[in-house]
Amino acid sequence: MFKSVVLKLTGRYLVIIMALSIGFSLFLYKVYTDELNRTQYLQGTFFNTAFPGGLPGFDAFNQSQSAETRERLFSNLILFNLVVLIGGCTGGYVLARRTLRPIRDAFVAQSRFVADASHELRTPLTAMQTEIEVALRDNQLTLPDAQALLRSNLEEVAKLRDLSNNLLGLARQDRGGISMTKISLRTIADDALRQITPLLRQKNIHAENLVEPLTIKGNLSSLTELLVILLDNAIKYSSSDSQVKVSTRRQGAMVSLAVTDHGIGISPEALPHIFDRFYRADQSRSKAKASGYGLGLSIAKEIISAHHGDIKVHSIVGKGSTFVITLPLAQA
Ligand code: ADP
Repeated sequence: MFKSVVLKLTGRYLVIIMALSIGFSLFLYKVYTDELNRTQYLQGTFFNTAFPGGLPGFDAFNQSQSAETRERLFSNLILFNLVVLIGGCTGGYVLARRTLRPIRDAFVAQSRFVADASHELRTPLTAMQTEIEVALRDNQLTLPDAQALLRSNLEEVAKLRDLSNNLLGLARQDRGGISMTKISLRTIADDALRQITPLLRQKNIHAENLVEPLTIKGNLSSLTELLVILLDNAIKYSSSDSQVKVSTRRQGAMVSLAVTDHGIGISPEALPHIFDRFYRADQSRSKAKASGYGLGLSIAKEIISAHHGDIKVHSIVGKGSTFVITLPLAQA
């Protein structure tokens, strides 16, 4: 399909190029022949005045010369247009490919995303369907069995809700156009830490807040979401009773915001992929399988790029990870 669209676009480019080239050639031919006729006329008048009897054979010679010049001009213009046609074909094809490549890449990424999302949606739905079907076939289903089934279904429903929230988050970031205001990093950190307090309590993890009140230009809810994603991961991939830290460091016109944990760490093989949509590193290293869909960090990355920032990760397996976000400071 990509090839046929490229060929169509090449055809359109070629029509424009050839219309310009033929138009230019016709114009040139007209101007040149008019000029030739004028010179021929002036030469004739001059010779008729200078030699009232006329020069024998002059008119015939003059006419054959101008006919030959016209023919030469015509064949040169045909040659020129052939060269433009060949050049236009190759150039147009290269240009069309180059123009359409980002659109094709976005299309491929979009289709892969839809396929991955439907796969992720299908898994909990199939689990629920199977459980319900088995329960319905069971004539001796007791109330405690039914309650256990409902509890399990509720868990799957909660997963589906999280997934749809994540997908909505990604769609929102993809659409772009978020409003930016001046905000203090301290406000963002306080908001994010408040949101994840129940998770911290659940695992008895202590969060150290060393964020300075530096001002950046950004969207409060997106940046809070970003920090919640990183803190949520820091807690998820750490064992109980450990520590996480959020800190800032000013570097000229930029500020780096770091989230550090002492959790399971990320292997060097997994590191290049953790920002890919739906990527989840091998969970067998963690004792309890952490929940998630592998969408958190891709949402984080989209938020950071909307704020013209950057994110880097330093991680040692078994020792912990530090995610460092660099953002431009707001101008005073
Ligand atoms: P998930 O929902 O799986 O947490 P993310 O996109 O947030 O999805 O993260 C992708 C993967 O990166 C995770 O599955 C995990 O393997 C790894 N990861 C992210 N943050 C951390 C962390 N702080 N410590 C260890 N591994 C992490």
